[in-house]
Parts: sequence; structure tokens; C-alpha cells
Amino acid sequence: MLELITSKLEDAANWGRKFSLFSYPFVTACCGMEFMSVAAPKYDIARFGAEFPRFSPRQSDLLMIVGTITEKQGPALRRVWEQMAEPKWVIAFGVCASTGGFYQNYHAMPGADQVVPVDVYIPGCPPRPEQVLDALIMLQDRVQRGDGHSQIRLKREKIMLAAANAEE
Ligand code: SF4
Repeated sequence: MLELITSKLEDAANWGRKFSLFSYPFVTACCGMEFMSVAAPKYDIARFGAEFPRFSPRQSDLLMIVGTITEKQGPALRRVWEQMAEPKWVIAFGVCASTGGFYQNYHAMPGADQVVPVDVYIPGCPPRPEQVLDALIMLQDRVQRGDGHSQIRLKREKIMLAAANAEE
């Protein structure tokens, strides 16, 4: 019975989370123009409850990696992700953030998932705003199901803690 109540509470919390995503835009390159376009009135990301970018990682739970990530930027990106509130999610915005894009050279990272766990990848150079909204809807489904990377990790940590306490 307790399990049923806690799983219903978790469902309700996830419903709230998916409609109140606070993004941290880690913008490094030209995809930033498309990010602005998605936030502008024509495409209006506010309809999905994700309209407020936060420029402090501690107030954010959605990391939007927008543009090319170089090897030198990798540690900074990781640090931003570590400072974000839990549970948190990551979108790789555009082909550069997803795979390095056409920058097959020594300085570009072949995808932001080399340093942070990415939940949704958006293809395109740059992606159309419709693709970004589609990715956001995919992420919302994932948040509701509770199978984002950070949600799974938190659940695993909770189980391990409970097992450790039971052993004592
Ligand atoms: S995917 Fe294209 S538009 Fe986006 S940062 Fe890379 S080169 Fe620029």
C-alpha cells in the first residue's frame, strides 16, 4: 500500500516537473539563433512550461547544450551540470552538440555526451524550431515516465541507501 501511495506521489511530482522545466542555455555557437527563435512569440516555448531560462545552474533543471563543444569547454560544461538541481535533464541542441557535427578535428568534442548524460538529441544544422519543440515533448514524456538519466540514478541511489540501512 505504501508503495502504491509513493508511486502515485512520484507520478504527481513528475507531472509538475514536466510542465515547469527551467532551462540553463549553454550557448556556444550559431544554434543560439534558433534557441532565441524557439523562445520568441512565433514558436512560443512558454506553451510547454519551459519559457524561463535561468543563468544560474542552481536554479535550473534542464541543460540545453546549444552549439559546438570544444575539448576545453568540456570541464566547464560538466561543472555547470554538476551544480544543477536534481533531478535534471539534458538536451543536445543541434548536430554539433549531439555529435560534433562537421568539426571532425582535434579541438571539437564528438558530442556533449562525452562529459554529461544526454536525454534527448536534436539533429539538424541548425534544427528547426519545430524539432526543438518536438524534442521538448519527448523529454516531457520521459520526465513523466521517470526514466531520465538523473531520475534513474536517484532511484538507484535510494535503493542502495535503503539496502545499506537494512544491513546495519
Ligand atoms: S549545428 Fe550548425 S548551426 Fe548549430 S552550432 Fe553547429 S554549425 Fe552552428
